[in-house]
Amino acid sequence: MSQIELDGVRKSYGLNDVIHGVSLNIEQGEFVVFVGPSGCGKSTLLRMIAGLETISDGDLRIGGKRMNDEEPSDRGVAMVFQHFGLFPHRTILDNAAWGLEVQGINKKERRDRAREVLELVGLKGWEDAYTTELSGGMQQRAGLARALTVNPEILLMDEPFSALDPLIRREMQDELVNLQQRIQKTIIFITHDLDEALKLGSRIAIMRDGKIIQLGVPEDIV
Ligand code: ADP
Ligand code: MG
Repeated sequence: MSQIELDGVRKSYGLNDVIHGVSLNIEQGEFVVFVGPSGCGKSTLLRMIAGLETISDGDLRIGGKRMNDEEPSDRGVAMVFQHFGLFPHRTILDNAAWGLEVQGINKKERRDRAREVLELVGLKGWEDAYTTELSGGMQQRAGLARALTVNPEILLMDEPFSALDPLIRREMQDELVNLQQRIQKTIIFITHDLDEALKLGSRIAIMRDGKIIQLGVPEDIV
C-alpha cells in the first residue's frame, strides 16, 4: 500500500515560509504532476516526502503510517533528479545497483536485479559503459533504473527531463507513460512545463508561492 497523504504540510527556513499548508491525498498507482514556476516550492515539497528535508508542520503519511520522522530508506520511495546524480567512476550497472549495495545485498544478486531494470528502461548492452559515454537521455534512463532497482512503491521525479533536448524529452515522456502502465508505481513528477504536466499526469496540481492553487484531471486544467 502506497497511498500518500499530505495534511497541512508546511516548510519554513527561519522566518521564510516556503510551503504554506499543503493537503492532498494520492492513491496507489496514481501519476500526479506538480507544476509551477521556479521557486514556488516544488522541490522542497518533494524533498519533504522523500525525507531529504524536515517537515516544519503538518503530517506526511504513506500507506497510513506517519512518516515525518522516518529515514528516507524506510519510506518506500526513490528519487530521480534533474541532473541524473550518477556516479562517474562507476559503470552503468553499478550505478543501477547502488541502492541495493547500500542495503547490503550481495554483488551477484544486486547486479542481476540491476540488469533486469536496465533492460526495462532500454539500456540493455550498456551495462559496462561509464556515464560519460552516454547521452543525456540515456543517463536519465540510468537514473531511472537506479531508482527502480530498489523496487520502491513510490517514484519521486524532480524535473527529470528538463535538461534534455526537446525530441529526446518527448521520447522519454512517452516511455515513462508506457513504463508506468507496466509497473504501476505511484509517481509524483515535478515540472515547470504545463504541456509536460498535461501529457503525463493522471492528476495535476498547480502550485504558486508554496500552495496548491488548482488540482484536477488534465481535462479540468485546460
Ligand atoms: P522550485 O523547486 O519550485 O523551484 P524550491 O522548492 O527549490 O522551488 O524553492 C522554494 C523556495 O524555498 C525558494 O524561494 C527558495 O529560495 C527557498 N529555499 C529552498 N531551499 C532553501 C534552503 N535550503 N534554505 C533557504 N531557502 C530555501
Ligand atoms: Mg526545483
